[in-house]
Amino acid sequence: MNLNVARRRLEDEWQWLLCARDAIDCEQLSAQSADDRVGELSPIDQHQADVGSETFEREKDFSIRDQVAHDLVAVQEAFVRIDQGTYGRCETCRAPIPDERLDAVPTRSYSVPTGPTALEPVTLGTAVDAGRTTTIRILLSRR
Ligand SMILES: [Zn+2]
Repeated sequence: MNLNVARRRLEDEWQWLLCARDAIDCEQLSAQSADDRVGELSPIDQHQADVGSETFEREKDFSIRDQVAHDLVAVQEAFVRIDQGTYGRCETCRAPIPDERLDAVPTRSYSVPTGPTALEPVTLGTAVDAGRTTTIRILLSRR
């Protein structure tokens, strides 16, 4: 992949991630002040279900925020690889990363898919427990 193109895409990604992070922060601030208002007006009226879904929303925000923080680091690392001349090459086998993979995700640093989608079950054997036979499988990375 052309490094100027990669740089532009990474800069776009960086800006987008910063906006996403700000948006999450704003949302949490306004949710917080809404809670304060509800607390002052009707401490008893708030239904348990509302509290539950509110907590769920918060947790979702936190996991998105984690993902955004992780992606920001990934973009920084990609810039470092551009500077070091290793961008577009696999971190493990040094093979060139196919353009279509970099087009889809410009921060990629592996030649083949990694992560949960790259795991495949491998059967180790069977075990018999309480008369029931269980197949023992582990997930191995294809990386
Ligand atoms: Zn590789």
